[in-house]
Amino acid sequence: MSRKVIFKTYNQDQLSLLPPSYDDLVPAHHPVRIVNTIIDHVDISALEKSYKGGGTSSYHPRMLLKVIIYAYLRNLYSSRKIEQALHENIHFMWLSGQSKPDHNTINDFRGKRLQKHLKKIFHQVVVLLAEEGVLSLKDIFVDGTKIEANANRYTFVWGKSIKTSKERIKKQLNELWSYVEKVYKEEQKTPNQPDFEAIDIHKIEATINQINDALKGKDIDKKVKQKLNYAKKNWPTNMAKYQKQEAILKARNSYSKTDPDATFMRMKDDHLQNGQLKPGYNIQASTNNQYLTNYTLAQTTADTTTLKDHVADHIENYNETPQTLTADAGYGSEENYTDLEDKNITAFVKYNYFHKEQQDKKKEKTNPFHPDQLQYHKETDTYYCPMGQAMANIGSYKKKTQNGFEQEIHRYQAQNCQGCPLRSLCHKSKDNRIIERNYNLIRLKAKAKTLLISEQGIAKRKQRCWDVEAVFGNIKHNMNFKRFMLRGIDKVNVEIGLIAMAHNLKKYSLAI
Ligand code: SF4
Repeated sequence: MSRKVIFKTYNQDQLSLLPPSYDDLVPAHHPVRIVNTIIDHVDISALEKSYKGGGTSSYHPRMLLKVIIYAYLRNLYSSRKIEQALHENIHFMWLSGQSKPDHNTINDFRGKRLQKHLKKIFHQVVVLLAEEGVLSLKDIFVDGTKIEANANRYTFVWGKSIKTSKERIKKQLNELWSYVEKVYKEEQKTPNQPDFEAIDIHKIEATINQINDALKGKDIDKKVKQKLNYAKKNWPTNMAKYQKQEAILKARNSYSKTDPDATFMRMKDDHLQNGQLKPGYNIQASTNNQYLTNYTLAQTTADTTTLKDHVADHIENYNETPQTLTADAGYGSEENYTDLEDKNITAFVKYNYFHKEQQDKKKEKTNPFHPDQLQYHKETDTYYCPMGQAMANIGSYKKKTQNGFEQEIHRYQAQNCQGCPLRSLCHKSKDNRIIERNYNLIRLKAKAKTLLISEQGIAKRKQRCWDVEAVFGNIKHNMNFKRFMLRGIDKVNVEIGLIAMAHNLKKYSLAI
């Protein structure tokens, strides 16, 4: 027996007695309400004051801020898609009070207006969340991740190739000058030596003119003449280009022509985790309980040199020093340990070979030739090698890190390694073995080790994996934020702030 099919009433012309309000259509604990409430509690007076006044009316910055943060929370990063959502999506319409700014307004607000204000707004949101008790600013987990810039990967400028090109010009100037000297030698004269040791655009021009003057009226080789003409026409222009590129590079090794603030970095973003060189930014982030508590941007590929500024930024913005900081071996340098010690922060920061050291200890495997295993007599400041030979202090030297941090290295040398039966196992140098010891680093590493293997240290190391790394995973994979939309470090700073706020508010909306 067939049963009667019943369809629900479908009538597009059905009228309501009372028109529905958008507010009725937004569920009570929907993330859009969280964004709305939190941003309503944030002081944006500085942002409001940045409007000049006069002319046509402007969209309210609080509304635009809410819309953009909510858009980032919904994985909408394109200003055109945000504009579309403001016309089609009830939650966006409710949030914007049915204001409909176009994509240019959204883009200008995001890229220009927010530049000086977003970081402060982000910190206010973090403080609000801390007051709610969902995160703490006392214990932070730090790590870095690289995000691709809005630039093509074939737009590179390499510092090394600029250096090579400059060297090539210098070499050719030398060859031309050698030719002048040869001509003058035949005439038993000595020309005035030009100075092009450290070449720049003026020195190149002056040297070419000097060579030209010296060879004026002489019967010179056709090839030399051609080279001189080429040099006059091209080298000053090329040199001007190299100087301009070096000014953009500063201490970096590369940059992208499309986004000169972006540096080429190895990014493991394919499914096989193969590193690919792409223009990008190194984002340094602190988290607590999977909430982002702070972020800074670095243009260097290594994390080591970024920690000092990152911690200083936290202290400056929250007016409070974290009590503990946990980070991986990428941050375990003498400079970082010293800085954290000076700031009285307990550092659960691994150093290179920490894990290997632990594994070797478990397997009771030690290398008797390693400097750490050699016997040391404090009274005589002497090490003793495995053959029992004294290794006397032969002096010390100081070196500076990239950030200008000074390190003191002490050197010790064996008296005679000739004919030693252990030599092949001990060292590869042709001379007697020299070992270098940095006592401050040795002390700091021992301190770090004690902390890392303590009960609290083991717990912190475990938490680091599911705290800060999980945040990067959420941003890159769940929020699909793998490439910046904007160009230039100031605009990229705004974008990372927006994604950080979106991440925090999304997590908070799931937690309450
Ligand atoms: S090679 Fe030199 S330093 Fe090494 S064990 Fe022999 S004597 Fe000592």
